[in-house]
Amino acid sequence: MKRIAVIGAGPAGMIAAAFAAAEGAEVEIFDRNEKAGKKLYLTGKGRCNITNDAGMEDFMRNIPRNPRFLYSAFRGFFNYDIIDVIEGQGVPTKVERGGRVFPVSDKSSDVIRALVRFTEERGAVINLDSRVRSVSRTKEGFVLEISGRGDRRFDSVIIATGGLSYPSTGSTGDGYAFARAFGHTVTPTAPSLVSLVTAEKWPAELAGLSLKNVTLTAVKNGKKVCSELGEMLFTHTGVSGPLVLSASARIADEPAGTKLLIDMKPALDEQTLEARILRDLEANRHKRMKNAIMGLLPSRMVPIVLELSGIDPEKTTDSFTREERRSLVSTLKAIPLSVAAAAPIEEAVITRGGVSVKEIDPKTMESKLVPGLYFAGEVIDVDAFTGGFNLQIAYSTGAAAGRAAGGQE
Ligand SMILES: Cc1cc2nc3c(=O)[nH]c(=O)nc-3n(C[C@H](O)[C@H](O)[C@H](O)COP(=O)(O)OP(=O)(O)OC[C@H]3O[C@@H](n4cnc5c(N)ncnc54)[C@H](O)[C@@H]3O)c2cc1C
Repeated sequence: MKRIAVIGAGPAGMIAAAFAAAEGAEVEIFDRNEKAGKKLYLTGKGRCNITNDAGMEDFMRNIPRNPRFLYSAFRGFFNYDIIDVIEGQGVPTKVERGGRVFPVSDKSSDVIRALVRFTEERGAVINLDSRVRSVSRTKEGFVLEISGRGDRRFDSVIIATGGLSYPSTGSTGDGYAFARAFGHTVTPTAPSLVSLVTAEKWPAELAGLSLKNVTLTAVKNGKKVCSELGEMLFTHTGVSGPLVLSASARIADEPAGTKLLIDMKPALDEQTLEARILRDLEANRHKRMKNAIMGLLPSRMVPIVLELSGIDPEKTTDSFTREERRSLVSTLKAIPLSVAAAAPIEEAVITRGGVSVKEIDPKTMESKLVPGLYFAGEVIDVDAFTGGFNLQIAYSTGAAAGRAAGGQE
């Protein structure tokens, strides 16, 4: 019987092991942690955004890095397949805004239990507290050096060790080292879906303040990269929240130097906004500017917006000039920030970069350099936006690798 080792009991590794075992192979997973799916536990703020109910084309639009590489894996195992697997284990799912699929219970632990059961029912064995130190190849197959278990021999190996983000969940980049040792190219890694550090220091004064219904536009080298309506928040070092994470994925290759523009009033054009300001000032005659514009934006932002507009906060509305009004309108429509860097990769939701897709067969996830060696999940150079797309990449590449590794040649 074919003996297969899967390194990593994340979503990619568990699905890979289940599919390989279903093909009749003898499959063992090794994970360094004391439990399976440690990162999964954190997903979707503890609720696990399992996948997205989008169609294939929409899926592709949500994958900025190497989407075409994933076509055949998605065709083999897609969103409705993982929903079947999870519901088949007694965990019903629901679809929320933006096609995001969650367990009805809102508990990521239910998803983990479903995946563990699915994997074990198909006959794969999950070994915990078992860090793989190295993988090498001999004439008799692959040898894994495993902490506390010594050397073990296998016919095939599936590397599903994840990326570099949230290292406390076990993903510290070991898979990249294994891949390199076999001669694979690992494209430069960088944080994606991550907070951004700004050159300006004023966001720190607003740390914790979140903005709803604003538009965030990112501009790089004079070109608009993206512009989206939604929520964001200020942090001690810059900006975060859904809009910022989404923008970070589009500038992940080179975040520094990107200009961010926050439109505080996306529903109003400049003329309408100016008229609205005039009305506010009329209603607040003789008041100081800092008090007169309180109704326009969160009070903590007032001093900053006035400063950015070059307006003395202590002056009264009576001496407010037309130029100052125009300047206030321009600022409210485009508060400027410059990205100094992305926050560290340890804080990112996902890793950009990884084992080069040029050296992996997209149908089987098998290495083009080393027969019998497979990759699955975040360790591969693919990543997506938020919405459940990243987990789907893990299951789909896992299913492809498992089927191929477990099948008879
Ligand atoms: C905070 C947070 C929230 C997220 N929310 C979502 C979400 O809601 N929806 C979504 O689609 N995506 C989400 N993601 C992304 C998603 O979690 C990842 O895309 C996914 O977990 C990748 O799966 P994986 O199996 O490739 O890697 P991982 O889940 O990282 O699993 C890799 C496993 O390999 C093990 N391992 C590593 N090295 C070794 C070794 N040498 N020996 C043995 N074991 C090893 C690790 O312990 C780990 O268990 C989120 C990520 C984060 C950080």
